[in-house]
Amino acid sequence: MSTFCEEDLPKIKDVIIGETIGQGSFGIVKSARIKDSNQNNIFAIKFIHLPSANDKGITEREISREVSIHMKCSNHPNILKFIDCNVTNKFLWMVLEMADGGDLFDKIEPDYGVDSHIAQFYFQQLIRALDYLHNTCGIAHRDIKPENILLDKDGNLKLADFGLASSFKRKDGTMRLSHDQRGSPPYMAPEILTLNSPYHANITDIWSVGVLLFVLLAGQVPWELPVNEDSDYNAFIKNNGNINAGPWSKIKLDQLNLLRKILHSDPSKRATLTTLKSHRWFLKKNMYANSKGLCKDPDLLLKNLLSNLHVSLTNENYEIFTQNMNNDNAHNKVISTQPVTNDLAELMHGSNSISNDNDGPFISHTQVKNKSIMTQQENNWIQYINNDIANLQFINEDNMTYLQSQLISNTHKKKLLFNPVKLTKFYTIHSMNILLTILEQALELSGVKFKSELYENFLKLEDKLGPKNVFPLAINLKLSDCRGGTLSGLVSIINYEGELKIIQFERKSGDPLEWRRFFKKIALLCRDIILIPN
Ligand code: ATP
Ligand code: MG
Repeated sequence: MSTFCEEDLPKIKDVIIGETIGQGSFGIVKSARIKDSNQNNIFAIKFIHLPSANDKGITEREISREVSIHMKCSNHPNILKFIDCNVTNKFLWMVLEMADGGDLFDKIEPDYGVDSHIAQFYFQQLIRALDYLHNTCGIAHRDIKPENILLDKDGNLKLADFGLASSFKRKDGTMRLSHDQRGSPPYMAPEILTLNSPYHANITDIWSVGVLLFVLLAGQVPWELPVNEDSDYNAFIKNNGNINAGPWSKIKLDQLNLLRKILHSDPSKRATLTTLKSHRWFLKKNMYANSKGLCKDPDLLLKNLLSNLHVSLTNENYEIFTQNMNNDNAHNKVISTQPVTNDLAELMHGSNSISNDNDGPFISHTQVKNKSIMTQQENNWIQYINNDIANLQFINEDNMTYLQSQLISNTHKKKLLFNPVKLTKFYTIHSMNILLTILEQALELSGVKFKSELYENFLKLEDKLGPKNVFPLAINLKLSDCRGGTLSGLVSIINYEGELKIIQFERKSGDPLEWRRFFKKIALLCRDIILIPN
């Protein structure tokens, strides 16, 4: 099994490599800038480790195809810009536009979704990106899902990750049919799964847009796989899409009408881009869009996106949750994450962790101590965490409006321009002993099994590396979610200063909505140690 570490990454002349901003299947995505250039001129570099890709049966030729396709079709405001690329014998790297707004999936609340104006805004942008991709470039994306949709600093959608894309039109204009089964199961069109029958890859993209729209509106996928054996899919097909139960009941008439046109199992009857562009919900004026279809009020968009994200730490929620746990209700989504057998988790030094990403102007905070007797250090911590929009998800609605307007205007001026902020994290000022004991209990209650006690493990590492060098720490996790999928990622513990620590949940693979469900569960179980503004 090939692996690599930070030191192996190639040095690029006149380029300063910054923080890790994402993990891919075979590599890592870093922020970067040109030496001596404007601090605001940041871009992203996706390094693909060729030996790791080869291990998974992916050839250099296939990777070069991602590059050549992306290069060809990035001249659209809703497609991530491709800037440059190069290759050494171990790495291929792509210089890409930096998507400062981070991942779209990070901002979708499980079982809730985003509000319908936001869904419409992103639907319009995605349809325009796809129209360009299909009709101008002759390229099908083939992996449309929330993980591959990024946002820029103004909240505009950027379609990314052309790893599975292919050209469906020949130079002479004739259509090239596809045969292979690729994509992400819940987003795959049914015809891809029908053996021995060629299909049009561009038409499968339309289907994936439908599933994505459903996810935006409902906060969950409509089914695991579009096959008759899948009971959710079966119910949808049997009723000709006239379904009003479960998550479908959340969807309003206009959108339901549109979804039925898109999610037609017969590709020849499925809505085309032309029909979608003339659908009334597509044409309806959107409150966030300017005349070019780009975001005209990023503060408002971000504020409304964030107001749907909520981690409830109330007694009531805690009791419901622990009661469910006692009942051992296997169907209860909140408690059903399970460890993948034989995988014992362990606390380790170091991580590929996405670094902390805040500094800047602040708002006041009075929870830890009376303001007048707070030490300078405590003041710094509070200022630091108050500047992180991730904290908004823990705040109850009464405090929300004021804090949001403060935070968002500060964050926007200062920080969203640089770092995609990951929202699955919390802060604590408790000692490592308390933190690790509570975290261990929470993870164990969710089914994680450990090689050894976390705190004992920490003391050994501290002994070996010294108190200064022991951070960052990481616990690698592999879980199976309630729907049978595998989730992998890490919980990293970053020491900001003194006792202030950031506990960050970084998904590596698996359904991002399930990862957020997992994070919310652990946060609820750790609620006594979470530091929350006001
Ligand atoms: P996978 O195969 O697991 O989907 P991948 O190897 O195709 O991963 P990407 O999806 O391109 O890699 O990137 C992985 C993650 O890195 C993204 O989900 C995102 O969080 C981050 N990322 C990638 N490119 C950018 C960018 N240009 N700006 C900001 N973040 C980025
Ligand atoms: Mg990806």
